[in-house]
Amino acid sequence: MADELIVKFWGVRGSYPTPGEATVKFGGNTACVEVRAGERTLILDAGTGIIPLGRDLARRARAADQPVEVALFFSHLHHDHTQGFPFFLPAFLPSARLHIFGPGATPETLGRVLELNQSPTTFPVSLRDMAAWMEIRSVRETEVIVWDADGVRLAESGRGVSDEAVVVRIHRSYAHPGGVYVYRIQWRGKSVVYATDTEGYVGTDRRLAQFARDANVLIHDAQYCEEHYYGQRAGFPSTQGYGHSTVTMACELAAAAEVDRLALFHHEPAYDDAMVTQLEAAARMLFAESVAAREGMEIKVKALSSLQSLGKRSADFSLRSTKEKTD
Ligand SMILES: [Zn+2]
Ligand SMILES: [Zn+2]
Repeated sequence: MADELIVKFWGVRGSYPTPGEATVKFGGNTACVEVRAGERTLILDAGTGIIPLGRDLARRARAADQPVEVALFFSHLHHDHTQGFPFFLPAFLPSARLHIFGPGATPETLGRVLELNQSPTTFPVSLRDMAAWMEIRSVRETEVIVWDADGVRLAESGRGVSDEAVVVRIHRSYAHPGGVYVYRIQWRGKSVVYATDTEGYVGTDRRLAQFARDANVLIHDAQYCEEHYYGQRAGFPSTQGYGHSTVTMACELAAAAEVDRLALFHHEPAYDDAMVTQLEAAARMLFAESVAAREGMEIKVKALSSLQSLGKRSADFSLRSTKEKTD
């Protein structure tokens, strides 16, 4: 529906893919989330979940007789967030347009890393041999990405844009080795925050809570149970300092930011479906509107009308959302 902000999970697993019977409920693909804002499609990370998403985008494009056009945002460039890209079908379609953003010291850094990931010794098809039109650019935390009737572009602020514009803001977190970008996607008064690969702080990450304030959907790293994190789970070392959160940390952040809904994300690859189900139940005791993200799950948020959206902006995000939930 064109008046909904839709979040769809294609890959929810952290670190490496986990196919097999023990993970069929939540899924084994690594990080990839699709966000549809009206007619526009944005993608968060390119773990192996982007492979089935790519096929689906190509199918939808054929059905609509329109070329694929997407904006793809990398949180960071660890394997589990990039490894699906060489198999992303739209990248091989000459008609497709891919706007690709992520962290990097210079505007060219992101492109160089993606090129290295597909160097001749490690992959048979180079980035340059992929047929799609691609704009690949590292962005700074202070930059804002705007997608409106004029296309996808960088701006110094998201102010003064049309009501139909999708606005993406960046928060740079240092709570993961090498740093990570957290993104906030805003459209018609509704917002989704994607905070994967981030470790909580004692008393909560206040900067992140501020950035995520009042989001309709917060997708947050929740890789570990408490025992595992503290090294009290048999057979597992402590993971403190690895750059990933416990379920409790995710819930504390959700409560501090007063978001409507929390999606636990980046599930530990050693955890089976029963364990993730338990963690989801534990999360609901701490933050009632919690759900463990699973492949194929959609969260739909009803967008505000133009007038409501303008009112909401001036009321400084004080309206609560009307939302619809589905699995
Ligand atoms: Zn990761
Ligand atoms: Zn990582």
